[in-house]
Amino acid sequence: MAELPLYNAPIVGGDVLAYCSKCQGEFSHIVVSMIGKRPAKVVCKMCKGQHNFKRASDTRAKSVTKSSTSAPRKTVVLAADYWEEQIAKKKGKPMKAYSPKQVFLKDDVIDHSAFGVGIVEEVKLSGKILVIFRGGEKLLVHSMN
Ligand SMILES: [Zn+2]
Repeated sequence: MAELPLYNAPIVGGDVLAYCSKCQGEFSHIVVSMIGKRPAKVVCKMCKGQHNFKRASDTRAKSVTKSSTSAPRKTVVLAADYWEEQIAKKKGKPMKAYSPKQVFLKDDVIDHSAFGVGIVEEVKLSGKILVIFRGGEKLLVHSMN
């Protein structure tokens, strides 16, 4: 947001555009003190109140990030679709009951007591397997001694 060069670089005793919470807007203020190049305390010319220097953009910044609440649900639906597709392909394949000691291979069908039926998507080097369950992917341990 470009601003009109109405105000020069702020100096103590000079004018600066600042947000006043009493007047609820950006108005001309007199700089009382500075920290570096930024005004610290300012006096509002409208209400004569002294307060910390603030821009309107400082007060709005917090309420902007509020639009990503519906995304996770979609992921679950897609995971379930993918799971059903994979299960259909594995029809007739014997299921292995999940146990951390059991050794699993890619494409093995797992029967997990908590997550249900899953398919081994990937065997990791670290003794873990990536399994697709209806509710999404899970990383499980296997071949534990
Ligand atoms: Zn004011």
